Amino acid sequence: MILSVLQQPDPRLREKSGEVQPADIPGLKELALNMLETLYSIGNGVGLAAPQVGRPLRMFVYDVSSDRNQPGVLINPEIISHNNATAKNIEGCLSCRGFEGLVERYTKVTVRAFNLDGKRATVKADGLLARVFQHEIDHLDGVIILDKAEPVPPEQQGAGARVV
Ligand SMILES: [Zn+2]
Repeated sequence: MILSVLQQPDPRLREKSGEVQPADIPGLKELALNMLETLYSIGNGVGLAAPQVGRPLRMFVYDVSSDRNQPGVLINPEIISHNNATAKNIEGCLSCRGFEGLVERYTKVTVRAFNLDGKRATVKADGLLARVFQHEIDHLDGVIILDKAEPVPPEQQGAGARVV
């Protein structure tokens, strides 16, 4: 089922989402599948956080593969380490339609989370995936790119942002 994605300035996008109790994880499979279906229904979307569909839970789905066949779901994600290098790149957001901005992110992060099977997972990410993880974890804390984006320089406009 395709879910409707909340749009800025919906106040629910600004709430801090709550931790998922491990016992509740099996009940989240349908939500995760619906969130992935919603993500795939939007051509350039690469990540979607539960609060963006009105569920204030610390959970997000993502797929940065070009064939859109490598979905992932992380629950209660925490960045446990990152490198010191950052990069600025263009981001959009499925909850801020029409907006693009340059956002500075760590280029490598390690995230600890639960997966949908209720097992602990540690995921190392770099490049686009690291960027998506940081963007989605921001959503879980009520932070959106309008808070941190800089204007896109003219020579980079229209380059085709990935939206998350
Ligand atoms: Zn977003």
